[in-house]
Amino acid sequence: MILELNGIYAGLRFASAHIVFGHSSCGVIHGHSYYVDVKLCGAPSGEFGFVCDFKTLKNIVKETYGELDHKLLVPINHPHLKYTTNEEDDSITFTFCKQNKTKEYKIPSEDVVLLPLTSTTAEELSIYFAERIKNRLKELNEDSAIEWIEIMVNEGIGQGAAYRLNF
Ligand SMILES: [Zn+2]
Repeated sequence: MILELNGIYAGLRFASAHIVFGHSSCGVIHGHSYYVDVKLCGAPSGEFGFVCDFKTLKNIVKETYGELDHKLLVPINHPHLKYTTNEEDDSITFTFCKQNKTKEYKIPSEDVVLLPLTSTTAEELSIYFAERIKNRLKELNEDSAIEWIEIMVNEGIGQGAAYRLNF
């Protein structure tokens, strides 16, 4: 049995800014309205015959993107990015440096989320979401009947990257 949440119809959306460092057109700060689709495969079980309670699943997805919403997403594992936190004015400085191109940004800490990723593409974000949601389902002991989860992070309507993670 496969449960499905459609991000557009279920209202699972957030808006964030990002930079695909080094890319010709996406290498500048820009934003997307993201939609998150979820598929969850498992056996119906328990008192209600659920694979997972929709409400629980939606809350976990909302919790996960809630940390990213209206922020600039910065991938701190990017091989050509360095960052420092500035305590004196509560800001973050990050520098992209590749070959002879250097770009330096200084942003208030409250505007930024530092993510343990090499990039903030839809591809990497779908892996991030799948891992976070899987861990949260396990913490809540909601994982016993689940075989896999698939997350699709859409950059707007009609284009997204999907990642499937086994339990
Ligand atoms: Zn983009």
